[in-house]
Amino acid sequence: MQFQNIFSEIESQKNDVTQTLMELIRIPAIAPGNGGEGESKKAEKLMQILETVGFDKIEHYDAEDERVPSKKRPNIIAYYYGESNAERLWIVTHLDIVPPGDESLWTVTKPFEPTIKDGRIYGRGSEDNGQSLIASIFAVKTLINLGIKPKRTMALAFVADEEQGSLYGIQHLIKQGLFKKDDLIVVPDSGNENGSFIEVAEKSGLWLKVCTTGKQTHASRPDKGLNAHRVGMEYAVALDKMLHEKYSIKDEYFDPPQSTFEPTKKENNVDAVNIIPGEDVVHFDCRILPNYDLNQILNDTNLLAEEFEGKTGAKIKIEVLQKSVAPKPTDVNSKIVIMLQDAIRKVRGIEPKVGGIGGGTCGAFFRKMEIPAVVWSTIDEMAHQPNEYAKIENLIDDAKVFACLATM
Ligand SMILES: [Zn+2]
Repeated sequence: MQFQNIFSEIESQKNDVTQTLMELIRIPAIAPGNGGEGESKKAEKLMQILETVGFDKIEHYDAEDERVPSKKRPNIIAYYYGESNAERLWIVTHLDIVPPGDESLWTVTKPFEPTIKDGRIYGRGSEDNGQSLIASIFAVKTLINLGIKPKRTMALAFVADEEQGSLYGIQHLIKQGLFKKDDLIVVPDSGNENGSFIEVAEKSGLWLKVCTTGKQTHASRPDKGLNAHRVGMEYAVALDKMLHEKYSIKDEYFDPPQSTFEPTKKENNVDAVNIIPGEDVVHFDCRILPNYDLNQILNDTNLLAEEFEGKTGAKIKIEVLQKSVAPKPTDVNSKIVIMLQDAIRKVRGIEPKVGGIGGGTCGAFFRKMEIPAVVWSTIDEMAHQPNEYAKIENLIDDAKVFACLATM
C-alpha cells in the first residue's frame, strides 16, 4: 500500500519534475578543462530548487579552482534524516556536463534550449546526469510530502567535475571524510534502457595524448619539412590496430565484453590548407578489462612510437592524461546490491542483472575505499551525443525506485 502511495505521489508531480530538469539544462556547466566556466551558476539554481523541498540539512563543500570565474567548484549535499543514521543511503549525481560538440548536429533543439518531444526531454545534460539528479530530488520530495521517514538517512550528493576526473568533485568530498564503510552508495550515472542492469565492476581507464612533431613547411615543398599530420595519423592507425589485436580478450560479465581503444579528440593544427603541419595531436580513450596490466599497454604504445620515430624522423610523445586501475568489484551479495535488485523487481516487475561496464563513474572512487557502490539508472545511453534526451517515463520510474529503496 505504501508503495502505491509513493508511486502516485511521484506521478502527480510529473509536470514539476520535467520543468525542473528543463530549468537546469538551460544552465551549461562545463568544466574548465573542456573550455567552460564550471558548475557555479547551475549550483545556484540547484540551491533554489533544494530549498523548496524541505531537506533537514544542506551542506556545501566547494573545491578551489583558479581556472573558473567563481574560483570554486561547487559540491552540495542534501540530507533527509531517517530512523537510523548508522548507515546512510547516498545517491551521487554530477552537475557538470560535456560540451555540446558540433551544434549543427543538434536537429531537435539547441543544446541549452530544452524541449519536450515524444515524451522525451532534449538538451545537453538531460540524460547525463540531469535525469538521475532530478529523480533523486523528487524521490526525497515525495517521501517528505507523504510524511514518510526513510529507514536510513538519505544523503543526496551533487558533485562537480565528473567528466574531467572528479578531482574537484567526488574526490574532494572523499577527502573530507564524509563516507563511512557501512554507507550504501548509489551512483545513477550509467545503465540500460529497461533499468535491468546493475553495474558492480568496471574496466581500467587510460587517456592518452599522442603528440607528433615534424617540421612545418609550405605545402608545395614537402621535401623541405616533415608532415607531422601524416605521421600522426599513420601512428594512430597502427596503434589502434596493435591494441585491438594484442588486447582482444572478451569477458561476457562486461558490457561491452571486450576492451575498447578509441581515437577521439583531434586538436587543430594549421590554419591554412597550404601549410604542412609541424605538429599533430590526437587523443585515445581506452577502457581496459581488469585482466590487463596498464603499464604493459603503455610500454607497447611507447615501443610502437619509437619504431615510428625511427622510420620517419618525427618525434612522438605519449602523454598519459588519466590512468585508473579498475578497483575490486562491489560484492554482488552486499546490502545495496540486494536492496536495489529488490526495488527494481517491485517497481518494474523485471529481474535485474548484475555486471560490469566501461567505467568512468564516481562509483570507482567508493570501490577503491571498499565501500560497496552500485551504478544504475534507466537510460537510452544518449550521454555525450548530439540530440541527447531523457525519457520522462524513465525519470519518473527511477524516482520511484529511489523512493522505494529509502523505505527498505
Ligand atoms: Zn555522467
